[in-house]
Amino acid sequence: MQIPPSFLENAEKKGFSKNHRKTLKFNIGKYEAKVVQGKRQFADLEHARKLAKNIKWHTMANLPRLLLEFEHHFTARGGKVIWAENAEEAQIAVQKILEAKEAKMVVKSKSMITEEIELNSFLEKKGVQVVETDLGEFIVQLREEPPYHIVTPAMHLSKEDVAQLFHEKYGTPADSTPESITAFVRKELRILFQQAKVGISGGNFLVADTGSVVLVTNEGNARMASTFPDTHIAIVGIEKVIPSLNHLDLFLPLLATYGTGQDLTVYNTILNGPRQPHEHDGPSEMYVILLDNGRTEILEDPKKRQSLYCIRCGSCLNACPVYKTIGGHTYDSPYSGPIGSVLSPHLHIGEFEDYVHLSHASSLCGKCTESCPVKIDIHQMLLHNRHEEAAWDTQSRSELRAWKAWRSVSLSRTKMNVPRFAKNITANLFLKKLWGPRREFPKFPSKTFNQLWKKGKV
Ligand code: SF4
Repeated sequence: MQIPPSFLENAEKKGFSKNHRKTLKFNIGKYEAKVVQGKRQFADLEHARKLAKNIKWHTMANLPRLLLEFEHHFTARGGKVIWAENAEEAQIAVQKILEAKEAKMVVKSKSMITEEIELNSFLEKKGVQVVETDLGEFIVQLREEPPYHIVTPAMHLSKEDVAQLFHEKYGTPADSTPESITAFVRKELRILFQQAKVGISGGNFLVADTGSVVLVTNEGNARMASTFPDTHIAIVGIEKVIPSLNHLDLFLPLLATYGTGQDLTVYNTILNGPRQPHEHDGPSEMYVILLDNGRTEILEDPKKRQSLYCIRCGSCLNACPVYKTIGGHTYDSPYSGPIGSVLSPHLHIGEFEDYVHLSHASSLCGKCTESCPVKIDIHQMLLHNRHEEAAWDTQSRSELRAWKAWRSVSLSRTKMNVPRFAKNITANLFLKKLWGPRREFPKFPSKTFNQLWKKGKV
């Protein structure tokens, strides 16, 4: 396995940054306290989770049919569906729409899939200004960095960091409160919502039996970005479909509770297509770009399929001791944390080898699996990635040599019984560096298992 040096450097930097740990501890601590409250709304939480998993299982087993059903209902109301096999096709589709509309600026609501296809940098290269309208996204865009977390993009920043940022960029007081910053951004954005010809969003769910796109936010910005501009483009992964509108009754509270600890997110918007003749507002044109980008290959493999159940609540990130130590940016993938480590090697965002090291960035404690509302066996899937990596033959020569040596020693009683000092010297020589400078390197016991066995002590 080749671990990118930047991963090790950033992990080290973040892991030993007191500020980073303090900010994360504070923000995740607040989240954890709220989640406990949110879970109380479920009479039988386990049943709700199992039901959600079963619905997702059914969805994946019927994905082609459900997507066509969605398309049928959505287009019947005048919506347009574009099927994009990869990021490039999705980018080009957006570009063509913007060109047709002569749009030089777009307002965007938070969407991880647009991070996945690197839409912002693509559009900016084409001379289009992209305005992020979610407050967290607005902040990280100002800092010219990617989102830190799939639900809370600016989780790594304290309110003092944000006040300082706005002071530097806009000259607001350096001790601005979160309320005054929110009011400032709201004012800045209001005019842009009105000026933009095109709004872009992701989609939390696609509903097959009604042909609806469901957007969930706490700020109402997705509602503004999808209704003020005359054209709305929703870019959505094909796995986001659910069979029926009735299933929102389960998925919306699950997403809210596991995402932010709320009973329900503040704004839940169900869009059924463009403005109809008898309606007064909404876009005159609405497009849904259905993105594959590696998802059908994941679907094809029964051992990986479960990863498509993910509703992007971010709960496994907040639960993961590794994420909480190394932070979201260290993953260097649009999807960080445990589920990001599972998905990134298989989505077409790079090569398998570029991301498989993330499957080793785990203690396999199972906290991620425990915390997942749709009961994805996340830690088992990390193991599956490692297994696949072994088959892909991506290990370095030195690692292969080490395993060969380990096998040869393990299979030989004579080698296992060599004197303790010889084993300690060999282990020190070849393994101490890998063990790292901060842990005490273990020593071999004075008696081998074989010697203890002969004495009847085991
Ligand atoms: S894998 Fe589960 S816990 Fe993690 S983001 Fe997806 S739904 Fe949430």
